[in-house]
Amino acid sequence: MGRYTGPSCRLCRRAGEKLFLKGDRCFTPRCAVEKRRNPPGNVSRRRRRPSDYGVHLLEKQKAKYIYGVLESQFRRYMTDAFNAPGITGLNLLRTLERRLDNVIFLLGFADSRKQARQMVTHGHFKINGVKTDIPSYLVTEGNQIAWKETDKETDYFKDRTAGLPKKPVPAWLMLDTTDMSGQVVSMPADEDLKQTIESRLIVEFYSR
Ligand code: SF4
Repeated sequence: MGRYTGPSCRLCRRAGEKLFLKGDRCFTPRCAVEKRRNPPGNVSRRRRRPSDYGVHLLEKQKAKYIYGVLESQFRRYMTDAFNAPGITGLNLLRTLERRLDNVIFLLGFADSRKQARQMVTHGHFKINGVKTDIPSYLVTEGNQIAWKETDKETDYFKDRTAGLPKKPVPAWLMLDTTDMSGQVVSMPADEDLKQTIESRLIVEFYSR
């Protein structure tokens, strides 16, 4: 599965807002959006009012950038969201939230989704006791997420987990700080889904 390998900050500048793709750096004055609000590339510094199509496209791109998903996979998520019962936009966001790389990030085991993705592909985690190195794996209720046993003796593990939790863990997940494992308590509820993404615009984009 392909992935975007360019600079993360470029994506924020393209979206015109902070997407918090780089962990702690995003909260410092070194953030590229704080320093330069203009889009990347050789474009006019005057921002033109985006067209209706542009507004819808940007919202879709934002969701893809935040979760690190490429178009073909995003389109598959969208098709599944259309076919599932319930509100399509929320179905889409629920699927994105359930990705294993996102869950590792939410549990605080990684500073960003990009870092979480790398940790998953390097085989650091087990789900229900089985090594799982697929970042797009969708967790379900009852899943137990644990570090590989041999990792627990490493400085890397101790550095990564020292002082956790650094931020609140969403209600649909549970972090056990005694052995640094996680559990999926329930599927993400509507209020757990990303409030910064206007899923309605994404649904309208794909409904054209
Ligand atoms: Fe985006 Fe974070 Fe880079 Fe700022 S530092 S531009 S929020 S990725």
